Amino acid sequence: MTDLYAVYGGTFDPIHYGHLRPVEALAGIVGLKQVIIMPNNVPPHRPQPEASSAQRRDMVQLAIRNRPLFRLDERELQRTTPSWTVETLEALRDELGPQRPLAFIIGQDSLLGLPGWHRYESLMNLCHLLVCRRPGYAPEMPNADHQSWLNRHLTHSVDELHQLPAGRIFMADTPLWDISATEIRQHLAARRDCETFIPAPVLDYINQAGLYR
Ligand code: ATP
Repeated sequence: MTDLYAVYGGTFDPIHYGHLRPVEALAGIVGLKQVIIMPNNVPPHRPQPEASSAQRRDMVQLAIRNRPLFRLDERELQRTTPSWTVETLEALRDELGPQRPLAFIIGQDSLLGLPGWHRYESLMNLCHLLVCRRPGYAPEMPNADHQSWLNRHLTHSVDELHQLPAGRIFMADTPLWDISATEIRQHLAARRDCETFIPAPVLDYINQAGLYR
């Protein structure tokens, strides 16, 4: 099997078990040796993160310190312009060459919103999409055109993900984590306990920095 290069983008404001646990399970299902966590700097479709880029980077580093599956890539954090996923994947594709399988990992909520992304149809020429389940989000796309786009790319074959460089969408049967960073920020602001949602070193960092108060 080839070494499938898997990238996990997001705001990670803060990183939590809803990010880590489903992707750990995904890695087992698909046979990923490494997952590259790539926090973004200026997410185009959303309000600015509460934590600074450096703080989000620090929290990812603390979360993955004892999790060798993950590696941090800071390239988007260092940008000053919006990070369009398609452009980041084009840059990665140039680095990896045309044949190496490349995958982008997303949650089910992101899949549903994907047709709103910049040049979304080009994504499938660049990478596979590996989709983790997320509670509360429909398993189907919101309209027939987008569902037929999904059906055209859908695969149930893990082998295809390793054999082809791009172009397949794989929906993985990952464990459900009913939590978001937004809810965690609200819990922290209300001084509610978040131990079950965030790795302890990340929670210590948040408390020491007085973040999300
Ligand atoms: P926010 O609440 O601030 O929007 P978030 O918790 O959704 O944040 P992001 O950093 O925006 O986290 O998400 C990065 C990626 O992680 C996205 O692809 C998203 O779908 C996925 N993800 C986040 N939380 C979960 C979860 N609980 N289960 C599965 N996937 C998740």
